[in-house]
Amino acid sequence: MHMTTLDDWTRLAGEITPRTEVFIDGKYRPAVSGETFDSINPATGELIAPVASGDTEDVDAAVASGRAAFDSGVWSRASASHRKRVLRQLSELIGEHAEELALLDSMDMGKLVSEAHTVDVPSAAELFAFYGESLDKQGGEIAPTEPGNLALVTREPLGVIGAVTPWNFPLDLAVWKVAPALAAGNSVVLKPAEQAPLSSVRLAELAVAAGVPEGVFNVVPGLGPTAGEALGRHPDVDVIAFTGSTETGKRFLRYAADSNAKQVWLECGGKSPNVVFADADLDAAVEKAIFGAFYNQGAVCSSNSRLLLHESIADEFLAELVKRTAEVRPGNPLDPASTLGALVDEQHTQRVVGFIDRARADGEIVTGGTRETVDGRGCFVAPTIVAKLAPTAELVTEEVFGPVLAVQTFSDEAEAIAMANNTIYGLAASVWTRDLSRAHRVAAALRAGTVSVNTVDALSPQTPFGGFKQSGFGRDLSLHALDKYTGLKTTWIAL
Ligand code: NAD
Repeated sequence: MHMTTLDDWTRLAGEITPRTEVFIDGKYRPAVSGETFDSINPATGELIAPVASGDTEDVDAAVASGRAAFDSGVWSRASASHRKRVLRQLSELIGEHAEELALLDSMDMGKLVSEAHTVDVPSAAELFAFYGESLDKQGGEIAPTEPGNLALVTREPLGVIGAVTPWNFPLDLAVWKVAPALAAGNSVVLKPAEQAPLSSVRLAELAVAAGVPEGVFNVVPGLGPTAGEALGRHPDVDVIAFTGSTETGKRFLRYAADSNAKQVWLECGGKSPNVVFADADLDAAVEKAIFGAFYNQGAVCSSNSRLLLHESIADEFLAELVKRTAEVRPGNPLDPASTLGALVDEQHTQRVVGFIDRARADGEIVTGGTRETVDGRGCFVAPTIVAKLAPTAELVTEEVFGPVLAVQTFSDEAEAIAMANNTIYGLAASVWTRDLSRAHRVAAALRAGTVSVNTVDALSPQTPFGGFKQSGFGRDLSLHALDKYTGLKTTWIAL
């Protein structure tokens, strides 16, 4: 089906009955406790469905199932070409269910369904194909040891991977973990964010339909402090692959230290700077600054939430930015004409509004600043730009994870670099200039996992994505991500 209109999406949304249970050993079942939590559509305030609230007993069962599958070798020792075929099939199935998966994410957390359909779901499908295809093209090594010895260096799957994911790109970010972890031959227990678990719960069923053996991929929806903590502390989980806030990431380091010293890979928050020099293509820079700050309602870990303008162009740039930001308006997430969706829930909306209210004392709100409704309801915030902020202002230092852009000015390159790096985070940064030498100089000086030059937030399946400093240290995407899910093994034969 080719979805083009609000009516099409609304009709299909009415036809979907989401899967809402724990998925273990290839079967859905309620949480052992019988508890549920409500999944609410933040654009309407309506209940989508109660969702099974997994807890320790469910996590125990999911990990035991994953371990049994791993030890059986049904997936962990399957041939590379077999795993490739299955993952390619899963990629196809995601494509075949693209509308349904896009709707689940949109209804669950408010994003524009058109973006979920054209960006998130194709990306998820692409990643299973990418990692599947990589499998039969890589071998191990023979180390150059002394004659009379043969030392083989191979990469082995690690066992049971616990994946804990956030709500902002629910399907896609789950797949950033699940695809390389499965490709490498591991079992996975996925704990999606409680704000948006539905696409992950559905993905599990598609994986089994594609041929992933039962037990290899289990999903336990549940709350962070219950299901999330149980997974983090589980003594039989080998690796935690986490994406979420820095605060929660630090908890997982503690859980690991207090339990079995499992590996923990963190992909955490950011406060990414977008630095515009006077010689840049200002028209393109304005366009991308809007995208960088407001895409996905600003709920992007690498959101360009700080705009640093050279003082000579600041007034002109800001005026154009405000003018064009007027085209970004909250609208029904199911309407393909909408340009900004809903925030994930009431609690987060109030948090974002709190940041805006406090910023009134710290700077000048040049556009936005208001909570909004669409059709008289929902969790919406107008795209908001705040200027004249001191370097210590909360909006300059704290991650908002909403459509709020902090603007500052600088007088020279050295000051721009110092301001850009003046953060506990280091996930991404953008630089705009036509001067090739400056582009290289500044890019090299910025402490960020990804530096985009003359664009924002550049990423692809082929390039690693992750942070420096308190943005974490794992890398998702690219062949490098496979390293997290494998251990190097030396097999030394004395000839
Ligand atoms: P969050 O930290 O609140 O939650 C992330 C996950 O951790 C969820 O599954 C949640 O249930 C779980 N969790 C929460 N509290 C827990 C606890 N006490 N014990 C165990 N598990 C717990 O983050 P969020 O609000 O879902 O997502 C927003 C954050 O994610 C932002 O900081 C954003 O920058 C970050 N993020 C980072 C990346 C990246 O690739 N670096 C990508 C997307 C989002």
